[in-house]
Amino acid sequence: MSAQIDKARIDWNAVRADFPLLTREVNGKPLVYFDSANTGQKPASVIETVDDFYRRHNANVSRAVHTLGSEATDAYEAARTKLAGFVNVHRDELVLCSGTTFAINVVAYSWALPRLKPGDAILLTRMEHHANIVPWQLVAERTGATIKVAEITRDGTLDLDALYKAMTPDVKLLGVTHVSNVLGTINPVREICREARKRGIATVVDGSQALPHRCVDITAIGCDFYAFTGHKMCGPTGTGALWARKEHLAAMPPFLGGGEMIKEVRFDGTVFNDAPHKFEAGTPNIAGHIGLGAAVDYLDALGMANVEAREAELLAHLNEELTRIEGLRIVGTARDKAAVVSFLVEGAHAHDLATLLDLQGVAVRSGHHCAHPLMHFYGVAATCRASLAFYNTHDEIETFAAAIHKVRKLLA
Ligand code: PLP
Repeated sequence: MSAQIDKARIDWNAVRADFPLLTREVNGKPLVYFDSANTGQKPASVIETVDDFYRRHNANVSRAVHTLGSEATDAYEAARTKLAGFVNVHRDELVLCSGTTFAINVVAYSWALPRLKPGDAILLTRMEHHANIVPWQLVAERTGATIKVAEITRDGTLDLDALYKAMTPDVKLLGVTHVSNVLGTINPVREICREARKRGIATVVDGSQALPHRCVDITAIGCDFYAFTGHKMCGPTGTGALWARKEHLAAMPPFLGGGEMIKEVRFDGTVFNDAPHKFEAGTPNIAGHIGLGAAVDYLDALGMANVEAREAELLAHLNEELTRIEGLRIVGTARDKAAVVSFLVEGAHAHDLATLLDLQGVAVRSGHHCAHPLMHFYGVAATCRASLAFYNTHDEIETFAAAIHKVRKLLA
């Protein structure tokens, strides 16, 4: 990273220069990367940290007493400590894993499966990613529990009255996304978790799209479980974590069995390690999580409040440009939004639009965004989605808008 970031006056062009990939050309045009909700780009410091690990320190963790083994273990555990500090939780409550999908499955199989029974319900919101739907369906099938859905309003806001009404005594667990990956809606998870807690409902918050964009204080949110993924917050793919309350981790059986997660194994029984190691069977993504530690250092140096402010500015500009385009409809206009904008253009299929934008160097995602129930709600098969990060620029927003104008003319 540009080591001397002055948090009070950030030079966003210098920040952008920390991301080597953003200098690329695509189809002969400078790349405009508007797909950060899918995966984020990585600063040089993260890439170099992973490279340095494999060049100089590569060894397995928590096993060997030799120097490299200690270096690897220390760096891996230091990454856990950094990550815990970043989201304000205790490091022993942070299970490192491959990302949100894995994290939610740990809760599903280790917490929900042994507890739920016929007559119980799992409450989800309309705007959940498949990662916060399908594990619950699998649990429901095996336990006889049912799935209930809390609806949203047309603008993509979670209907809180409906949500609280749906928190009936049969509901044992609520799954809610912190920020929608399709609509950009920021849900008031602190208030929602407080209401759930009053009614004895455990809460699982999907933080995948929150951590890259906002200051997240998990302790203040007051949930039972918080899942997130590292690759959307400048870290390597295959990284992330599950945070869970200490009492849950102590009571939950392990999700996977194997090495690293045990204290002693005999053929007549095994004594499991303490949390979080009890949930980290096998050799983990060591280099990846050390890289994620570097991503946390990077974001910390920028300051998440600065990231939030920068992205709010970019979002305002993006909305301004898009609302000027005739025939373009934004899907998801909630008041509190992250810089994620889904849209449709009259007469153009989302995939065609994304393909034609790609020819102009603009990368947006098209499709259902792993949110079929939300697509059903809006009566569409797919949308285009522009998702920004702090490393994007106002010039890119203008290039993007001009590219859409060009596509509209082409398709007219
Ligand atoms: N939840 C949300 C809101 C997401 O946007 C994503 C990824 O797109 C996921 C869950 C799944 O994350 P991962 O594939 O990293 O496990």
